[in-house]
Amino acid sequence: MIGFNIPPRAGKELEYIAQAVGSGMICGDGPFTHRCSEWMERRFDARRVLLTTSGTTALDMAMVLAGIEPGDEVILPSFTFSSTATAPVMRGAVCVFTDIRPDTNNIDETKIEDAVTEKTKAIIVMHYAGVSCNMEAIMDIARRHNLLVIEDAAQGVMAKYHDKYLGTIGDFGCYSFHETKNYSMGEGGAIVINRPDAVERAEIIREKGTNRARFYRGQVDKYTWVDLGDSYLPSELNAAYLYAQLEKADEINDNRLASWKRYYEAFEDLKGRIDLPVIPEGCTHNAHMFYLKLRDLEDRTRFISYLKGKGVQAVFHYIPLHSSPAGLRFGRFHGEDVYTTKESERLVRLPMYYNMDPEDQQTVIAAVRGFFEENA
Ligand SMILES: *Cc1c(COP(=O)(O)O)cnc(C)c1O
Repeated sequence: MIGFNIPPRAGKELEYIAQAVGSGMICGDGPFTHRCSEWMERRFDARRVLLTTSGTTALDMAMVLAGIEPGDEVILPSFTFSSTATAPVMRGAVCVFTDIRPDTNNIDETKIEDAVTEKTKAIIVMHYAGVSCNMEAIMDIARRHNLLVIEDAAQGVMAKYHDKYLGTIGDFGCYSFHETKNYSMGEGGAIVINRPDAVERAEIIREKGTNRARFYRGQVDKYTWVDLGDSYLPSELNAAYLYAQLEKADEINDNRLASWKRYYEAFEDLKGRIDLPVIPEGCTHNAHMFYLKLRDLEDRTRFISYLKGKGVQAVFHYIPLHSSPAGLRFGRFHGEDVYTTKESERLVRLPMYYNMDPEDQQTVIAAVRGFFEENA
């Protein structure tokens, strides 16, 4: 079976983990954590990047920093992973889901403004498949209504919107380094702090509400509990794994883009029977995934089982959050669901990962083409 994901291995992971173990410091914020943060700050031209234990906890931290409180409303797409919604819900906020665009599956920027009420505090955008949302329009709405913007860039590491890296455009950006993402540390993530006035508070919240970071920099002579917080820092063992991947970030990115392009070119002539991913002008994606859209749910179900018969694992996601049991409890859909449910029922992901064997990829391509030949 050709599985839909194999976690990335860049080469030096074990060597770096051994170094971390040998150094005698395996808790958080050691040399590998600092190398990862500095690498991202430099590469993404980001004010401050802090490693977290997951993409989910990066979003949780962003909600605390954004001052989200019970009764606040947060606008987000319904077509996203549950973490995008659990973050505001953990703060007692209400999720206001809006529709997506059918081309990128990202939040439809033209539907946001109508969902704004007196209670709206923030917009959480999710850059699906590492393809940017229309950030120009979204930042403009946010400025006019005095809202914060949080980018769920879990899938968008190394991708860009014009000349800016995803995660560095809104007030806060959130990355995931889960094993299904482009760069991994097993479980892990990072928060990008783009607001200068939030950097110090971010360090405190991440360190159980203490000012330990200032203590280590010699700015205070003892550290103490100063704010609310949690333990959001991953161990050096995880950071060591990630650093091996970041060092090879371009190689991994180029390799994924090449696989993505092979799929795209192999299926281009099927347009009309299927829809292929759309990359709008100004967006530089990172080949986080390759998906197709079939006619409808029935067609997709037949397609997935056909591929399975050919030894290819294809998967789908997401059940729209507004129709999920928790979504019904914690949120509401604003406006009409024109595309969210429809597109989610048509979408299917093909196997796609770093260093995918070209022969395996040919097997996937042949299986996909076989389905359309047999169902002409
Ligand atoms: C993967 C993912 C997350 C969660 O990341 P974890 O590191 O698994 O917590 C959040 N949002 C989106 C859009 C994701 O794809």
